[in-house]
Amino acid sequence: LLFICPYSFICLYLYSSSNNLHKKDSNRMLFPRKIVFLEELLKRIPLYITLKEPTIMMEKTLVILKPCTLQRGLVGEITNRFERKGLRLAGMKMVQLTDEVLSEHYAHLSAKPFFQRVKDSMMACPVIVCCFEGVDAIEAVRALTGPTNGRKAAPGTIRGDYSMSFQENIVHASDSPEAAEVELKRFFKPEEIFDYKQATFDFLYANDEY
Ligand code: ADP
Repeated sequence: LLFICPYSFICLYLYSSSNNLHKKDSNRMLFPRKIVFLEELLKRIPLYITLKEPTIMMEKTLVILKPCTLQRGLVGEITNRFERKGLRLAGMKMVQLTDEVLSEHYAHLSAKPFFQRVKDSMMACPVIVCCFEGVDAIEAVRALTGPTNGRKAAPGTIRGDYSMSFQENIVHASDSPEAAEVELKRFFKPEEIFDYKQATFDFLYANDEY
């Protein structure tokens, strides 16, 4: 920014010229003072970048417990897998999905031969929509969920432990920050997402991790 915005550069120069930076060098000529100032400036840029670097993100993501999960009586067990991981449940409700909502939600599959079959499966009975929150939650939830085909998912993942199917694969989970934002808005009103602090929070993360 300092290099992009000449105005900030001039302001910083004037500020620097008037403060203690050059007290010891007050008898220097103008040119050496400029060099001292530039040296100081260059030393501070990495510090500024380090302080501003947004490496760690507290995120919210959408999880849907699919009809197969309700039919098999696994709602408590699957919810528990996310809770045990350390994700905070920020929202949860039961909804009957419609063809209209699913056509939007699964728009990326609209050209697939199984599109209608997947939508029908998602409408077989109500689902549970959940919002889970945590540091890097979107990636962590996807890793815990496992790949789409339950038969190929590794043991230890939710799909790997509970599914033998490509379609009946227990959960839906948002696959990117962009998708999570759109999908949470699709299924939750703002007042249905709760920002409370869990008692366990200070024991889930080190204080430089959030
Ligand atoms: P994911 O749910 O892993 O993000 P997709 O977004 O590609 O996967 O697909 C959405 C859902 O459509 C899957 O969870 C699954 O239920 C179904 N599906 C995807 N591919 C197939 C397939 N080849 N056969 C049957 N069902 C599928």
